[in-house]
Amino acid sequence: MKVRVIMGFFIFFHATSLSMKTGHDLSINDFKLLIPKKEIKERTKQMASKVSQDYSNQRIQGITIVMVMKGALHVVSDLSRALDIPSTLDFVQASSYGQNGTVSGQLSVMGLERLELAGKHVLLVDDIFDTGKTIGALKQELLKKNPASLKTLVLLLKDKPRETKELPDYHLFLIKNQFVIGYGLDYKEKFRDLPDIWVKKD
Ligand code: 5GP
Ligand code: MG
Repeated sequence: MKVRVIMGFFIFFHATSLSMKTGHDLSINDFKLLIPKKEIKERTKQMASKVSQDYSNQRIQGITIVMVMKGALHVVSDLSRALDIPSTLDFVQASSYGQNGTVSGQLSVMGLERLELAGKHVLLVDDIFDTGKTIGALKQELLKKNPASLKTLVLLLKDKPRETKELPDYHLFLIKNQFVIGYGLDYKEKFRDLPDIWVKKD
């Protein structure tokens, strides 16, 4: 009897942790519109003027944008085309969210070896600054390549308490500490193609 109860407990526990792992997949119905594309477009223009002004002594040499794939895809595409200064483009791939899709996991970075940044004015661009670990770790790695300067820009900055005090140099929007998708940001690789930014309903 006792053994059966213990076995039953283990089966229940295993099933619960399994269903927690797989969860139910979120659909677009679980999200609501947060930032419409018109607003993204306007803010991008504004940000492009600010960045161009800040780098106005780089009108000839230009800047090197290092984008963090894949989330920064659209913000880099739109921002770089709106800059008044020339830019060259390179990228690294970073992923931190595991199978769950909304819970941060181990950070992995690919493509650092290839980057040649010595003497260049580098702008590192990511989709979102959450814990800050991705940008923090990437910054340390890029600095080892002796750029002339290094700044960071993110599309979204989450308003939340975090261990690091260092914030990105530029952010387009400050948002609440909620899970967002669209305009490059994914849930299990989906929704990057949405033109607007959506937030998970609570
Ligand atoms: P951090 O290292 O700052 O905690 O997280 C940065 C990375 O986590 C981002 O580049 C992004 O891929 C992912 N991330 C953090 N918050 C969100 C979010 O709300 N939505 C999505 N789709 N990804 C997020
Ligand atoms: Mg991601």
